[in-house]
Amino acid sequence: MNSPDKIFGENVFSESVMKERLPKETFKEVERAIHHGHRLSPEAANVVANEMKQWAIEKGCTHYTHWFQPMTGVTAEKHDSFINPTDDGKIILRFSGKELTQGEPDASSFPSGGLRATFEARGYTAWDPTSFAFIKEGVLCVPTAFCSYGGEALDKKTPLLRSMEAINKQAMRVIKLFGNDDVTSIATTVGPEQEYFLIDEEGYKARKDLIYTGRTLFGAAPPKGQQMEDHYFGAIKPRVQAFMKDLNDELWKLGILATTEHNEVAPSQHELAPIFTTTNIATDHNQLTMEIMKKVAGRHGLVCLLHEKPFDGINGSGKHNNWSISTDTGVNLLEPGDTPYENAQFLLFLIAVIKAVDEYQDLMRISVASAGNDHRLGANEAPPAVISVFLGSELTEILEAIENDTPYGAKEKELLKVGVHVLPKFPRDTTDRNRTSPFAFTGNKFEFRMLGSAASIALANTVLNTAVAESLKQFADKLEGAEDFTGAIHDLIKSEIKDHKRIIFNGNGYDASWIEEAEKRGLSNLKTTPDAVAHYLDKKNMDLMISHKVYSEAEMVSRHEVFLDKYCKLLHIEAQTMVEMASEDILPQVSAYSTSLADSIIAKKEVGADTVFESEILGEISGYMKDAYQAYKDLGSNLETAEEKEDFVEKANYYKDVIIPDMDNLRKACDQLETKTSAEYWPFPTYGDLLFAVR
Ligand code: ADP
Ligand code: MG
Repeated sequence: MNSPDKIFGENVFSESVMKERLPKETFKEVERAIHHGHRLSPEAANVVANEMKQWAIEKGCTHYTHWFQPMTGVTAEKHDSFINPTDDGKIILRFSGKELTQGEPDASSFPSGGLRATFEARGYTAWDPTSFAFIKEGVLCVPTAFCSYGGEALDKKTPLLRSMEAINKQAMRVIKLFGNDDVTSIATTVGPEQEYFLIDEEGYKARKDLIYTGRTLFGAAPPKGQQMEDHYFGAIKPRVQAFMKDLNDELWKLGILATTEHNEVAPSQHELAPIFTTTNIATDHNQLTMEIMKKVAGRHGLVCLLHEKPFDGINGSGKHNNWSISTDTGVNLLEPGDTPYENAQFLLFLIAVIKAVDEYQDLMRISVASAGNDHRLGANEAPPAVISVFLGSELTEILEAIENDTPYGAKEKELLKVGVHVLPKFPRDTTDRNRTSPFAFTGNKFEFRMLGSAASIALANTVLNTAVAESLKQFADKLEGAEDFTGAIHDLIKSEIKDHKRIIFNGNGYDASWIEEAEKRGLSNLKTTPDAVAHYLDKKNMDLMISHKVYSEAEMVSRHEVFLDKYCKLLHIEAQTMVEMASEDILPQVSAYSTSLADSIIAKKEVGADTVFESEILGEISGYMKDAYQAYKDLGSNLETAEEKEDFVEKANYYKDVIIPDMDNLRKACDQLETKTSAEYWPFPTYGDLLFAVR
């Protein structure tokens, strides 16, 4: 067995590998590119590419690819071999600096939201030296950004990198005010906790809904679901354990710091958490983690479901995005310090985040919006669609004391002056960890809990970084000229608390009374993807993104379209799958069962036997069949209407308002039929079969 330290990072062309293999001067250039955004000279790029190729060939690679993250939300790759023909009919293996730094995949089939129509079909990939090249399945993968001929970002990575630059710039201004002269840059850090389901491959293969959509579109509740909560942190079954071991090995080889694994609340649901790292690397790693989870599951006769809501009535899967800001000297800026100055700096960053979340609630909600995640948000399991910030009672009381100039402290009550007093200690991990909050402060980081399990974390962090950059910008603008610095900080924090305290909520986010209260506070409650996305192009959101150079206007307009287009396409596939399953599997099978019941009734009557069971069940089934058939017809014809709509906003709303209720109706009738139909006739595995098959 390989111990983790032996295999860790063995498939990564990391900084230490480069240090070992590259000439000193070239390595220095690479370091400048990684840490200070300098461009690599063509000569250095050639040296790096050649060494990267040598390293990859030693590890058995024959191909390379630019690995990128188009707006589909999954990663893309196109493999090219290293081979080049020579005059004498042989080949040499080559990989040039140009091939490393720039690629030109045919991009015509990636979503562009109209960006490409105005330019041309080609797309360009450009090496991102801040994320290391790695080997996957014998292919050297070079992480890249992806843009159009005109330079518009067609991917999720480019805006994320720009948002990191934006927050670096503004946070550095604030940091300098506190005299931290040793700090040369700041970066946000993320540790995403990933939830997933593992089910047996046999059950999966027998269900078209899982195959086409990743979730069950039909299925009556099993007698046992998650009521007993006996799965949460329960002993891990041997097959799952073997999967997890294999998964960890694969992730470690790629330098991914997978560390925590446990069973989740729902049967067959599990979680994996890595140790946090810089946001863009965490994003790349999370994409790889999802991909490798699926691949490794296959080796164990399992299927990994990453969908946000694979089973109705059973908890869905999310992704908790733990986020913080750190200096390059290793200081976590969301960690309260020991001196008044450190405390003031901490409070300023804390308030910057609170202000950002309050002012850009809609963008935060949009950043996690998808048809899949709409099943979770607002249902009684994930945070509600209303965004609020949990701070815990101690920190909230401290802020209240500052805001109102009221004395604080258990023993000696005194007025808290920011920058003068040391903050009273508050417990770092309060035991009443609020699991119902969408955005919770957990001692030295914020945990954004609304992300769906299948989504890339790029957008949520792009929004968070940029919104906080804007708060910091406003703070720096005010404080840079201040004569009395500590006084100015105190006043600033006080007034910002006053302005944004409405977003702070420490209670139960699932409570109906909170939704009412939130409305009174003027917080937004954007329940569905079309509701949320309708605010994407609001002026304040455009101003934010454009002023910090994270998106251009054209890039935002295109993403608005991609959002809704994806929503409609996904629902179209789901609805179409339901139509097919109802007409080809469910209705014919139930009809056959009805016939057998009718036959028994006739046969039994002949011998004078009682037929109460057959007659009553047949009656009930006939009723539900009628409902199901009607719902099937409605769904089919309304789908045609949906697809005729040209305006994508109108189309998305039609899916939301008409198609989803149609789908619900069809499901309701069919799920009733499932409970009445003999197991022998029911055409696919039930929830019970799917959820409890893995031992
Ligand atoms: P919990 O109390 O939620 O179990 P952990 O400390 O185990 O908290 O962290 C949960 C996740 O948060 C892990 O992925 C961890 O690496 C990440 N995390 C911890 N500190 C930070 C930080 N400063 N920035 C970003 N993520 C962090
Ligand atoms: Mg968790």
